Amino acid sequence: MKVAKFGGSSVASAEQLRKVANIIKNDKDRRAIVVSAPGKRSKDDTKVTDLLIGLGEAYQTGKSYEKQLDQVLERFKDITEQLEISNNIITEIKQDVEVVFSSDYSNALKLDAIKAIGEDSLAKVLSEYLKSLGLEATYMNPKDAGIYLSDEPGNAQILDESYDHLYKLRDREGIFVIPGFFGYTKDGKLVTFSRGGSDITGSIVAAGVQADLYENFTDVDSVYSVNPNIVENPKEITSLTYKEMRELSYAGFAVFHDEALIPAFKASIPVCIKNTNNPNGLGTIIVSQKETSENPVVGIASDTGFLSLYVSKYLMNRELGFGRRLLHILEDEGISFEHTPSGIDDMSVIIRESQLPKEKEENVIKRIKNELDPDMVYTERDLALVMIVGEGMNSTIGIAEKATAAFSRANVNLEMINQGSSEVSMMFGIKSSGVDKAVKSLYQAFFE
Ligand code: ASP
Repeated sequence: MKVAKFGGSSVASAEQLRKVANIIKNDKDRRAIVVSAPGKRSKDDTKVTDLLIGLGEAYQTGKSYEKQLDQVLERFKDITEQLEISNNIITEIKQDVEVVFSSDYSNALKLDAIKAIGEDSLAKVLSEYLKSLGLEATYMNPKDAGIYLSDEPGNAQILDESYDHLYKLRDREGIFVIPGFFGYTKDGKLVTFSRGGSDITGSIVAAGVQADLYENFTDVDSVYSVNPNIVENPKEITSLTYKEMRELSYAGFAVFHDEALIPAFKASIPVCIKNTNNPNGLGTIIVSQKETSENPVVGIASDTGFLSLYVSKYLMNRELGFGRRLLHILEDEGISFEHTPSGIDDMSVIIRESQLPKEKEENVIKRIKNELDPDMVYTERDLALVMIVGEGMNSTIGIAEKATAAFSRANVNLEMINQGSSEVSMMFGIKSSGVDKAVKSLYQAFFE
């Protein structure tokens, strides 16, 4: 049994849904289908989820939401008309919206229930369409599938018992279409994962039914070794390990939600990234272990929006508990950190800028000064992280040399270097303005 998940661009229009149906028809093992809400049909289009968020926010600020609702209905009307199936979904969406707004749920729960209408309606439409083509297909609500989530609206997490419920789906006949992105709390409230969360649903379903393969259909032929917006026609990655993919998606590889790997990884289900517009292409396969390739580096990733909090104090290395107290201040202030490269008398904490907005910074610095009595403390904003990733790096000599030479050729100053002992990745902190130059130069060094 295979689980096939189709992303927003794959279900954006009737034309795309025809391709989806063909893909499903072409392999009888594709029985569990997970879908996103219709995404963008062109660059300037708006995703249905964004329209729904606009709708929910308009309602909550007392404004009219007619416009957004009409746009959502229009998207579904177009699809059903062109696929020549019933347009019952239009009435259902209107009813769904009314039911949510007349409920006594909190604002956060109402917004989640509105957001979920995109995937829920699309799953109904697709199953209807598959039936019209003579396939045995049914829509399956996440509640009936047994997808139970933690009570964290907009950022829910799977509860382990869901996997046992999902396992029972193996015995079902035919194809079932499950909407991605949401599930239910134990007391029956609808909650969503974070944005892009249909990938997570797909992975959970794959782990639950113990699928032979989790196919994630999107709009690129494969995962590329570097961001194609920075380097033209980069090399495709045909296979990579879960660990490598995790590291790459941490730093800006947006092909696959970074939380989506864990369920498949734990259940050892191989994941395949494929293109709905070119389903016969090789795609990228993600597995636990792969044969060593010639190049120890599989990809180069980069992400901006970081800052470094620098603290120095003479003899810090001998002051018991210094690091813990510094991190405790951050914990106390609700700030999560990413990395902590350190020296003998200094420690830097790398934080996402969104975690430490300027308004919060003053207080954090004041507390560090009062509680730790440092010689110096300051933040440096506008940092980017550039990572080279590959499990093969740990047994290869000279990678760091090659990488730092590439930064130097690009005339980019290194602010920070970090490499954990697993050596799956090597991380460099630089000023954001140098990212493109640095990434191009690294690509040349490792791939050309
Ligand atoms: N539709 C949701 C979003 O745009 C979830 C998804 O597509 O994966 O975030």
